[in-house]
Amino acid sequence: MSMGRIHLLDEVTANKIAAGEVVERPSAVVKELVENAIDAGATKIDITISGGGLESIRVADDGQGIAAEDVPLALQRHATSKIKSAADLFTVMTMGFRGEALPSIASVSRFRLVTRRPEDMVGTEAQVHGGNIIRISEIGSPVGTEVRVDELFFNTPARLKFLKTVGSEAAKVTDTVQRLALAWPELSFSFTSNGKSQLITAGNGNLEDAAAQVLGRQNMRQMFPLLWQGQLLSLRGFLARPSLCRANRNLQYFFVNRRPVRSPLLSDALQTAYHTLLPRNRFPAAIVFVDLDPQEVDVNVHPAKREVRFSRERDLYRQFLTGAKEALRNAALLPDVTASGIGVVQETAANLSLYDYTPTFDTNRSSFTGYVPTPVFETRTEHTEPFQFTPTEIPPREEEITSTKKVFPHLRPIGQYRATYILAHSDTGELYIVDQHAAHERILYDNLKKDLSLGGLPVQEVLPQTFDLDPQTASTLLGSLDTFTQLGLTFEHFGNNTFILRTMPLFFRSSLNQDELTALLAIAHDSVTAASLFEKTLQIMACKAAVKANHPLEKAEMAKLLDNLTGCEQPHTCPHGRPTVLVFSEQSLAKNFRRQ
Ligand code: ADP
Ligand code: MG
Repeated sequence: MSMGRIHLLDEVTANKIAAGEVVERPSAVVKELVENAIDAGATKIDITISGGGLESIRVADDGQGIAAEDVPLALQRHATSKIKSAADLFTVMTMGFRGEALPSIASVSRFRLVTRRPEDMVGTEAQVHGGNIIRISEIGSPVGTEVRVDELFFNTPARLKFLKTVGSEAAKVTDTVQRLALAWPELSFSFTSNGKSQLITAGNGNLEDAAAQVLGRQNMRQMFPLLWQGQLLSLRGFLARPSLCRANRNLQYFFVNRRPVRSPLLSDALQTAYHTLLPRNRFPAAIVFVDLDPQEVDVNVHPAKREVRFSRERDLYRQFLTGAKEALRNAALLPDVTASGIGVVQETAANLSLYDYTPTFDTNRSSFTGYVPTPVFETRTEHTEPFQFTPTEIPPREEEITSTKKVFPHLRPIGQYRATYILAHSDTGELYIVDQHAAHERILYDNLKKDLSLGGLPVQEVLPQTFDLDPQTASTLLGSLDTFTQLGLTFEHFGNNTFILRTMPLFFRSSLNQDELTALLAIAHDSVTAASLFEKTLQIMACKAAVKANHPLEKAEMAKLLDNLTGCEQPHTCPHGRPTVLVFSEQSLAKNFRRQ
């Protein structure tokens, strides 16, 4: 007698498999439990872990609790009170909806839940060990829910092995809690790890206060508010001045319709907005809430809901970029070089930095409440009516829009130093030291931008150059042909992995060598969007065409370069974010020579 080989997995096994996806590590457990508390309307959420969450996790809330008869259901897979059908997925505003968190967690730990609704006299306790329900009984308890997860993954040793050190798991939990606390400033969070308090938020609804707890007051002083409304999306939050940047993206917090997400698309758009303000491989701190019609976002692409998919990626990218750039411009982000010049001379030359400057407006203003509640979230437990998207209302913020916009003065050359720096003075008497390469790069870059906005770069036909590429590089080039064409670099696909270069931008050069193309394609490969490739290519062209250091210039050439620099929109930095000029006021010189 033969038996069919296909059979339905028993409940415990299915839960363990789901656990591998939903709760791959302690931070994921914390995230699911906190989201349940948020969904339950909690105002206060206490999180305690020990041993990086592997020893124990406890999440307690003061939310609506679970009815006694629903407790067994809540522990079953795909049991959820939050959606009824797949169609609800697009309008879902609750954090959870898959109904797999509790059973998954309970299948890989010693799990205990205690809950009571306000209307009930007595609470319910459930204990589950490795997926087996040990008991469900009545118990005295405060209103709300407390979940305790001990010995996580005790019965899945393979999973345990995959985890990092206790310390790094604890750090991941901290990061998770921080993101949730930022997303929900109206809820009071407290987080304790190994008996030490890590985070307490006031829960007063003020994003700036929550952010100060997460990033520190000091860091928040280097951030300015972001509020922008586009057609497709609205942006709110805080962006960093260039002084607050890091070698990684750890200080970037993105939220899409309030869900903490990682989004290469948004990170890339942000980077592009800053690209002329920051040195290479530096990433600005940012807290950005992107709110858009839920119909435009698919939140169900990742089991732990950490990633989202957008239906109109290109539009979204472009609007995000526009909004972020406008915010940077309005914040008068260009450094106050004169002020820094005074400090600079007193310090050692090695400390020269244009980024040490004082903010031009008071960041401690109490008027900004940060989070502007959208109607979106007030309807989060109502799934009966069709969902209406109402854009966030943005209060007028005059004081920032009128804030200082620095004017770059007309400069006269004095001479050249080491064939690399131009010394110049302004009509108001300041001494300028100009990095000729950086300045020329900025000028070329701005000219390119101008040409592009006027319809495109003038191009030249070049002697046809053939490139034979490896298959991967060839496919990168195929995918970037349009972008390069817009920049005047026209390649013709000659079949297989062969391409012929037909035109180049007129200002540039008349040939491209294999190395340069390979470098360009490496960048194309790493660029998430065509827009960012476009920007990076522009920067490279400007850099390659700019006058180099150790290049003697005639006085007339210097004068021309300085004139052109004055005409630039952001004359203080080169497209890579390095400073183009250092400024010394006459006053600061006098002071340092003790003439005053
Ligand atoms: P989901 O959140 O996707 O619905 P879960 O497995 O996380 O699935 O939770 C199952 C159900 O248990 C939820 O739909 C909710 O009704 C209930 N529940 C879970 N945690 C809480 C909590 N902290 N407070 C109140 N109800 C909760
Ligand atoms: Mg849940």
